[in-house]
Amino acid sequence: MSDYIPYGRQDINQADIDAVVEVLQSDWITQGPAIARFEQAVANYCGAKYAVAVSSATAALHIACLATGLGQGDTLWTSPNTFVASANCGLYCDAQVDFVDINPHTYNLSVDELEHKLVAAEKQGCLPKVLISVHFAGQSCEMEQIASLSKHYGFKVIEDASHAIGGSYQGTPVGNCKFSDITVLSFHPVKIITTGEGGMLLTNQEELYQKLIRLRSHGITRNSELMQGESHGSWYYQQLELGFNYRITDIQAALGVSQMQRLDEFISRRRFLAQRYNQLLQDLPLIIPWQHPDTESSWHLYVIRLKLDKITKTHRQVFEELRQAGIGVNLHYIPVHTQPYYQQLGFKCGDFPEVEKYYQEAISLPLYYGLTQENQDRVVASLTERLI
Ligand SMILES: *Cc1c(COP(=O)(O)O)cnc(C)c1O
Repeated sequence: MSDYIPYGRQDINQADIDAVVEVLQSDWITQGPAIARFEQAVANYCGAKYAVAVSSATAALHIACLATGLGQGDTLWTSPNTFVASANCGLYCDAQVDFVDINPHTYNLSVDELEHKLVAAEKQGCLPKVLISVHFAGQSCEMEQIASLSKHYGFKVIEDASHAIGGSYQGTPVGNCKFSDITVLSFHPVKIITTGEGGMLLTNQEELYQKLIRLRSHGITRNSELMQGESHGSWYYQQLELGFNYRITDIQAALGVSQMQRLDEFISRRRFLAQRYNQLLQDLPLIIPWQHPDTESSWHLYVIRLKLDKITKTHRQVFEELRQAGIGVNLHYIPVHTQPYYQQLGFKCGDFPEVEKYYQEAISLPLYYGLTQENQDRVVASLTERLI
């Protein structure tokens, strides 16, 4: 359907295309200079010391967990309102995974719930080793409170900022790792900027940085200072641990550099469209996204919650009818603990009531840089028709 409005999509302009073509015509299509340029651009923008570009955010989450020391016998906690990758990375490391229910206003993990769960876990001697805080829809978690709990209870913090590049917290950019060990970004085409597939890790800790660099590429180093014994010669490298091939190509990194130059423009358009939704939807029987005063969202997603007691249709009916009308609504997310794979691990429906209630009511409306006001009006009209 040609007039189908998707929920999200990339925006590629001529400058993006030229940047990619330039790499294709150069000597390096992978492991060349564009990767370092991309890392530098993102590190500068976010205000982090070190950046490591990888093949996806999933790969980034995996090596972030390994670098922070997560392994067998350890536990990782995250939000159930996320893409499965934020939890799967714990299982890749043979750790246990558990969830912290969401705050019903921000849809991020609840800091109160986190604290309660930590108090209980301390008594039972099963504190988590790592917490992955997911900045849902582009709105930062309450990182200062999370960091203070992490100091008190001794767990590491990884920010899953797959949605949130371009957002800010307490007036400084998401990704500066002020309140975390590592921040992870995604460059999948529906996210804020894209490299096709791709991800990045940001950190301020030199030791973590060196470890992430090695894990990205087979656990190998060419730095003689890090080797055991003497170098055999200029061909020599050593494998010091078990790593992976999680590298990104220069072709992708060049696209990333070009997209970074457009990031502020992307964010301001998304903010404009989100505010416009807020106005157009304010009188309908639904809840518009609540924003914590410490945060400025990057607006990866615009999620509404239907007031089901004020409408005659069911959530599912509204959703399916919008899809049929060519409005590409979506649902972020199916609570991870309700996935069959996680149910096999012992989780049950009812374990995290706030996120389960949220899942009964939530709908992500189309939001992306290239969404026109006309199409946004179509979304609103189509939704309005179904609610009143
Ligand atoms: C998209 C996404 C990921 C995975 O990103 P990829 O780059 O596709 O691997 C992880 N976490 C969250 C919250 C995401 O939205």
